[in-house]
Amino acid sequence: KPVLTWFRRDLRLGDHPALTAACESGRPVIPIFLYDEVAEGQGAAPRFRLGLGLKVLNKSLESKASRLIFRRGEALQCLRDLIKETDAGAVYWSRLYDPASKARDIKVKEALKQDGIDARSFSGHLLFEPWQVETKSGGFYKVYSPMWRAVKDTEIGSTLPTPSRIPAPQTWPSSEILASWEMSADMQRGADIVRSHCMVGESAAASRLGAFIVNGISNYAEARNLPAQNGTSNLSENLAYGEISPRSCWHAGMQARQEGKAGAETWLKELVWREFAYHLIHHTPHIVHSSWREEWGAFPWKTDERLREVKAWKQGRTGIRFVDAAMREMYVTGRMHNRARMIVASYLTKHLLCHWKIGLDWFEEHLIDWDPASNALGWQWSAGSGPDATPYFRVFNPVTQLDKFDKDRAYVSAWIAEEQGDPPQTALDYFHAIPEQWSMSASDPYPDPIVTAEDGRKRALNAYENRDF
Ligand code: FAD
Repeated sequence: KPVLTWFRRDLRLGDHPALTAACESGRPVIPIFLYDEVAEGQGAAPRFRLGLGLKVLNKSLESKASRLIFRRGEALQCLRDLIKETDAGAVYWSRLYDPASKARDIKVKEALKQDGIDARSFSGHLLFEPWQVETKSGGFYKVYSPMWRAVKDTEIGSTLPTPSRIPAPQTWPSSEILASWEMSADMQRGADIVRSHCMVGESAAASRLGAFIVNGISNYAEARNLPAQNGTSNLSENLAYGEISPRSCWHAGMQARQEGKAGAETWLKELVWREFAYHLIHHTPHIVHSSWREEWGAFPWKTDERLREVKAWKQGRTGIRFVDAAMREMYVTGRMHNRARMIVASYLTKHLLCHWKIGLDWFEEHLIDWDPASNALGWQWSAGSGPDATPYFRVFNPVTQLDKFDKDRAYVSAWIAEEQGDPPQTALDYFHAIPEQWSMSASDPYPDPIVTAEDGRKRALNAYENRDF
């Protein structure tokens, strides 16, 4: 009786406990992907990026005389159909922790077990399962730094090799055609431009990690804050889809630390931010839709998406160069530098006093590294409603931040075409990507600030201090 191996955000063959267990079971293995309610419910860019990842995963499986079976529909129904058609006796998958995936997986596991199927979930998406790391008094960490101290020297098991053989069934069940799902259909901003900025698949991710460890990690502590430099690993896109395991990243970072490479510890810390985000989303799932600190739910953030300031923020024309450059970078590349994410999130929620949920949703629609846990934590942290919050009165000043982190204006010049005699291609790409109804042109004058850094700061502090909770 075959084992169905259900791929979701784990699009790799190496260090994949569920796949390894299936291959070692002595039974045929049928790799499957289900385009179900959870996968379809994501934003346009994550769905598009998922489609790219699936295509590459299928190729890797084919090189091992296997293949990916594609089905579309409600997950449990698809699984039951496949079990019936293949006489499978087991379904294995890697665990996920966001509320939508968890609700689905719990339902699927219970129902399949009742059907007499060996339904089993495995680790693989995280370094530590959310219930494995506990504070001294029990319970999960609600503050990042003590969690880092608790895990920073932890030995984690070695990575699993890619299975040498993926035993195929005698006959394959039918598969839908991936291309027929048109997963890029909702990419209104030109999938091709975004595609040119992606590095897709397991071997691309491994090369990225290798190059970063050799060339990038030593300067990481300083370069990671400079958005014009390629000073970070860029692995978030691959980690989001599981094209590389966090364990592979951890081992590479630990080895670099042992070799005394500067920057290695700082990078390991970032991997633990990802863990922290996942532990929070598991233990406090409301982080994705309402204020993590519940009292902040009463804060009168503006929620009307039609507001002039919301439109200006989304379209990258607030008149604040750091903010606009960042919003345009995301529109064109599907990525945004971490420092820039903090600046635009602070500007939206503090200077413009708009709800963090507007930003969270816009990011989900446009990021190719969209991750339910890191995005939710990033937005709540920036708004001051989250755990481990920057105190609400610390408002990023997007003008002084520019002087500090983009001294020679290389970042803003790369993304803002207006008032440049000969704008670079990146800045022009933005105007090729935007919809016509935004009616913007590279030859327009650059707009005046919608809210200046000083006025916005005063207004934010006033609103935050006068809140009545
Ligand atoms: P590196 O600097 O090389 O770090 C290595 C890895 O550590 C990253 O790939 C990522 O997996 C993890 N990491 C780094 N910084 C963070 C962080 N602050 N929080 C959690 N994990 C981190 N990251 C996403 O992956 N997806 C998102 O949807 C996302 N949304 C964000 C929204 C906001 C408002 C903010 C402030 C941050 C968000 N982040 C998100 C975190 C961070 O910006 C990105 O992970 C980082 O920019 C990715 O670049 P990199 O891969 O070069 O990271």
